[in-house]
Amino acid sequence: MKKIGTLLIAIVLMYSCNTANKKASSEITVESIDTTTVRKHLYTLASDEFEGRKTGTPGIEKAAQYIEGEFKRIGLKTYDGLPDFRQNFTFTDRRTKEEMKAFNVVGVLEGKSKKDEYVVVSGHYDHLGVRKSEGQLDSIYNGADDDASGTTAVMALAEYFAKKGNNERSIIFIAFTGEEMGMLGSRHFGKDVDASKFVAGINIEMIGKDSEFGPKTAWLTGFDRSDFGKIIQKNLEGTGYVLHPDPYDKQNLFFRSDNASLARLGIPSHTFSTVPLPTDPHYHKASDEANTLKVSVITETIRAIALGTESIINGTDTPTRVVLEETKKK
Ligand SMILES: [Zn+2]
Repeated sequence: MKKIGTLLIAIVLMYSCNTANKKASSEITVESIDTTTVRKHLYTLASDEFEGRKTGTPGIEKAAQYIEGEFKRIGLKTYDGLPDFRQNFTFTDRRTKEEMKAFNVVGVLEGKSKKDEYVVVSGHYDHLGVRKSEGQLDSIYNGADDDASGTTAVMALAEYFAKKGNNERSIIFIAFTGEEMGMLGSRHFGKDVDASKFVAGINIEMIGKDSEFGPKTAWLTGFDRSDFGKIIQKNLEGTGYVLHPDPYDKQNLFFRSDNASLARLGIPSHTFSTVPLPTDPHYHKASDEANTLKVSVITETIRAIALGTESIINGTDTPTRVVLEETKKK
């Protein structure tokens, strides 16, 4: 009777636990990152309503509000004692010499056992705004690939890792502003940080088209500057998705996106991309619109980044610090 009783209690307990917790974290797979959510984020950020999200305009204010709404829904915390998700700063407009307001949108998922070790997941949410028409469809530079796609990834990864709940390290999700004006947002973010606490930077830029290596591939800038890329490759073995080193060496892309602001501090901070840069007709054109992208490519790439970085997020792997010698290859 006693044995049966214990067993019965155990069964009841197991049953109630299972139903009480919505889903055990092990049940959350990268498949939960779905095309419906990805499409929604992408088409919202790249819509004409957001007017090309130029830093200092009403369009980028709308984009910031959308991202803040998502961070709140996902349950992220604010960064470093800030009252909300905005990291505000001012900058001087190069042309008008006016003082302008700008803000990164930053949300934190606190780590379990390694709370003071940070991993940054970022993309820039600003773009070029509205310019004179070039005889194209409209004069709004929607920046769907550049970088609504990366900002979409930041939100999707925040939702995934929040549900998954196995981040031993803290993750700082950042939508950077002012990238197109010279990486203003990431430079501002990097200014006051204690770099020794930052384990890795995962920056995402232009992931809406098949890369020149074919379907289910992406490339990483600064591949040889740390062993970050090798860790990702190891984690992606057997998944059918392959990460390559950046094929456009001479373009110096490692220093042309927000990852550089953290890499300069020694943080292994790299950019994931799929853009076929030399043949992309939409790069920095008004025609960079959501319908030129493959939502499936963005979704698969976000899933690959989730799988590829998981061992860094959960504290198993720590990439080597970035090497900055020979930065000026000529
Ligand atoms: Zn960009």
